[in-house]
Amino acid sequence: AVLCGTLTGAVPVLAKDAEKYTNTDFAMDTVVSETLYTTGDDLNTEIGNKLREIESGLLSWTDEDSQISKLNAAAGETTEVSDELAGYLAKIEQLAGDSDGAFDPTLGKVIRLWNIDGEDPHVPEASELDALLKDVGYQKVTLDGNKVTLAKDTTLDLGAVGKGIGCGVISEFLKDQILNLGGSSVFAYGQKPDDSPWKVAVSDPRDTEGEYLGAITIEGGEFLSTSGDYEKYFMEDGKRYHHILDPKTGYPVWNGLTSVTIICDQGYLADGLSTACFVLGMDAAKPLLEKYDAEAVFVDEGKNVYVTSGLMDKFELMKDGYIVNEL
Ligand code: ADP
Ligand code: MG
Repeated sequence: AVLCGTLTGAVPVLAKDAEKYTNTDFAMDTVVSETLYTTGDDLNTEIGNKLREIESGLLSWTDEDSQISKLNAAAGETTEVSDELAGYLAKIEQLAGDSDGAFDPTLGKVIRLWNIDGEDPHVPEASELDALLKDVGYQKVTLDGNKVTLAKDTTLDLGAVGKGIGCGVISEFLKDQILNLGGSSVFAYGQKPDDSPWKVAVSDPRDTEGEYLGAITIEGGEFLSTSGDYEKYFMEDGKRYHHILDPKTGYPVWNGLTSVTIICDQGYLADGLSTACFVLGMDAAKPLLEKYDAEAVFVDEGKNVYVTSGLMDKFELMKDGYIVNEL
């Protein structure tokens, strides 16, 4: 997921002493690109540091000092976590339940088994997957204020909401800018100096290097997140093994969808819902979208684009061969 999908449009006419800063950095295992319009100091370094801090302090499963690593190491026992993490976990568990487990934060060991980011990703033995699935299930996490208990052998992985959490945290720092984590989590804050709308590009899942599939206009305060089967995957025997897993089977989700983009008012939610809706498929996703007051764009293998009614006039198709339908 190293694609910068932000379209900032023509260079805006800047307010008198506002300057445009763009920066590319690496944090949270992804490329971070920022476009800031500020009059003050260049905030890029601070943003990068803040994101790395969230990663190493909170979310990382490789860094032994992160809270998630400590929780995982203490599975079977009760661990006290920060207010911040306790708050996220409560919301994450709620979303897991609301999506009927389509979004499940306890896939840790299954994700490690697939090791899709590794040197030589391959299809695991069905028996290995089965053995790990018994420790998967969002109900295996017990929350009591700041006290968290994971069932023995259960492992958390917050990868599906990490960038969204990052977007949410950084959004508190900044004004008048757009923040883009790996092309899959984007936040727009405030207004561009020339008042033109923020536009975010949507990749063509089957032509990620080519022209964008389309663009979505978002307002200041909105978060956008995309989950797709093209972001991390390998091919074997003509089949696409990608990184969005069905918690019920442990295998990648093959339901005809190629990407799901969500727009809503919170970072973790846009990210979590994009994963959940990809797993659920369009029909089952609808009530979940309504519950959270979120808009969505679904793209499928038949080159159909389905757009929720609230987004119809904000989605612009840019590529031939696709058909836009209202969902
Ligand atoms: P991205 O990593 O581009 O933000 P997603 O938001 O879709 O994409 O998150 C996918 C990641 O979430 C996977 O790489 C994996 O770590 C984790 N994951 C995969 N399937 C699920 C699922 N059903 N529920 C929760 N997390 C998942
Ligand atoms: Mg997600």
